[in-house]
Amino acid sequence: MSETSARPPSVDTLARSLTGSGLPHPILVDIARAAIAAGRPESAGEHADAFRRSLLTPVVNATGVLLHTNLGRAPVAHAQAALAQTVEFDLATGTRGSRQQAVGQLFARLCGAESAMIVNNNASAVLLVLAALAAGRDVAVSRGESVEIGGAFRVPEVMEQSGARLVDVGTTNRTRLADYERAIVRPGNDVALVLKVHPSNYRVEGFVEDTPVRELAELGIPVVADIGSGLVDATVPWIHGAPPAWLAGEPAAVQTIADGADLITFSGDKLLGGPQAGIIAGSAELVARCAAHPLARALRCGGLVLSTLQEVALSYLHRTVTTDIAFWRMVDQPVSQLRDRAERIIAASGVGSVVDSEALPGAGSAPGVTMPSIGVSVEGDMLSSLRQHDPPVIGRTRDGHTILDLRSVDPADDAIVIAALAALPT
Ligand SMILES: *Cc1c(COP(=O)(O)O)cnc(C)c1O
Repeated sequence: MSETSARPPSVDTLARSLTGSGLPHPILVDIARAAIAAGRPESAGEHADAFRRSLLTPVVNATGVLLHTNLGRAPVAHAQAALAQTVEFDLATGTRGSRQQAVGQLFARLCGAESAMIVNNNASAVLLVLAALAAGRDVAVSRGESVEIGGAFRVPEVMEQSGARLVDVGTTNRTRLADYERAIVRPGNDVALVLKVHPSNYRVEGFVEDTPVRELAELGIPVVADIGSGLVDATVPWIHGAPPAWLAGEPAAVQTIADGADLITFSGDKLLGGPQAGIIAGSAELVARCAAHPLARALRCGGLVLSTLQEVALSYLHRTVTTDIAFWRMVDQPVSQLRDRAERIIAASGVGSVVDSEALPGAGSAPGVTMPSIGVSVEGDMLSSLRQHDPPVIGRTRDGHTILDLRSVDPADDAIVIAALAALPT
């Protein structure tokens, strides 16, 4: 009785006792107050720990999903001092410049397009293109491409928000050029453009046919292709060897522009391997109309993203992609190297065995295809213990085993994997 009836500590005393958590005092006061009110002051430490773990935390991605949507898609290195930079400043004239100029010109060069601009993400890019080029008018979209991409990007809903009207063309499995032609000439229709959407995260098989950009370009109205994943060039000249098999069928910026798309849109943080951003590239006139639309101001990105994206574009142009860009570094690792790493990790931690694994590009890119990989396998479901490690290691389970796939792990983080494995309960 005497133990439980002891006076609870004051909120301030309890909060101060949690300073070691590294959390700011006002947060600790909230936690202390709630724990005292619940009659369990001794639980405050756990709550502080849980709060700390609810903050954005760097983790080791051992899932084998290289662009893991829940882990921020492409991992990007970035360091920037608090310096002013020429975000909207023209050094030649000393007057205001265009926010789109610096990075836009690099992406235009990369894609083989006349012009390019950058917005917040690919959803913004599609929204802006539709609002700027087709508000109050019709946009022809194949029924097979009226899709939802992960994270609630739904073509009909984006269309509605843009003020453009969706005109369904063809059928779910087959859409031919003649279907588009009919939609364009149908009395009452006012088709401003054709939107072709890459159905990134699913695949229809069997009796299917879509109309390639090359044919759509004959229609005589602007063709906008949302290629989604941001593969720059289908020939993948920046990696060692031939284009990997898992990329087959993935639309690429250079080829889609060369095939006659008037505009393309894609994400910055998928196969491009950069920060979250949306790239619009193509005809100078159409890009200028997008840039002049009032929504462009609301959807623009800041200097932090622009300077990171500039580094990414320069890496492609310098052909240093597989050294500079984490995603392509992971892709480029030979299986033999992954196997060596797995053996070293197992020897150093004294835990696990080497297994063949299959890694995925992720982020809805190249659905249904895998790339060969190697994992460290441990018996049982250890996912929770591995998440408790500091820093957390995120794996997956398969057939009653926990697999840590090494293709998505930076070799510099192997030491963390070793420590996390060695700390597992036996
Ligand atoms: C991923 C994707 C989007 C959404 O891009 P975000 O950059 O996530 O906004 C839109 N369209 C396609 C085809 C995609 O693959």
